[in-house]
Amino acid sequence: MLKLNLKTVFIEGGIILKLLSVHFTQNCNLNCPFCYVHKDPQRSPSISNSPLGSNSPGSPFLRTPDFDFFLQFPQIAASLQIPQIALGGGEPTLYPEFLLKFGELCHKHNVIVNLTTNGYDISPPILNALRYFTLVSFSFDTFKVQNKVQFSDLLRKMVMVKDIGCKIGANILLDESTTTNLIPIALTLQHYADFLYFLQMKPSTLIDYQKLKTDLLTLKTLIGRVWIDDSLKLSFHQTIHCGRGRDILSINPSKQASYCSFDVPFANLSHPSDLSSILQNLYPQEPTFSCPFLAPKIPQLR
Ligand code: SF4
Repeated sequence: MLKLNLKTVFIEGGIILKLLSVHFTQNCNLNCPFCYVHKDPQRSPSISNSPLGSNSPGSPFLRTPDFDFFLQFPQIAASLQIPQIALGGGEPTLYPEFLLKFGELCHKHNVIVNLTTNGYDISPPILNALRYFTLVSFSFDTFKVQNKVQFSDLLRKMVMVKDIGCKIGANILLDESTTTNLIPIALTLQHYADFLYFLQMKPSTLIDYQKLKTDLLTLKTLIGRVWIDDSLKLSFHQTIHCGRGRDILSINPSKQASYCSFDVPFANLSHPSDLSSILQNLYPQEPTFSCPFLAPKIPQLR
């Protein structure tokens, strides 16, 4: 298992890329209303009639990912000196066989591999598949935090994944409800997670950024292992520009590249090796000084 290393990498031509974000599927076993992933229109939602509400299990999946295509990214990332791949979805844990192969390839090519999950189904095959993953991040939102059964179940699964040797992240999605209870939520999660990562919804529903900033500073003092996403850094004026189009490149399940996961795609990949010409010809672009996806009714938001 490789150690986390967020050092900026310079490759020929002055290109800087820290992370390749690979969303290889839009399929998911939950159906959260705030999810930014463009869902397959044939996938019928099951949220309205479920007792568990919006985080309830979704319906069966209709579109199988192109596994052979996505399994080439570890080698491509290594050849482009991209140090780290983050797998997201949809829900990556739906495909343990793919995760095992992907992790093995990352290990072989000396590329760090991380994954974000809703934590709904951490079964023995998943635990086996995660053996080469460095960081597994669990997503927390209002629904999971308010539902005591779901919350304690997620904590239990974090322990299971930690026990196989992965670092554990807790990604806390900020809205008015989670920000109200931020400190108690974080104080609980600190016992289970190595990293607490706070991110705001896009579009954002946050109002009181000053209180949020104070709470996060308090947590940083109390816990230490607290990180915030680029859009919060911009909102807090802690950075001049974000990583969009500079540090991170995102690939979606339709094999399209975008400058960040919320963006409309700017290029199609007929083969994973197209990543090389994309980086040579379309990177870096101008810095982004304010997140265009925070305000409501942004036309290009998927
Ligand atoms: S544009 Fe917004 S969502 Fe995209 S990387 Fe920048 S801050 Fe993050």
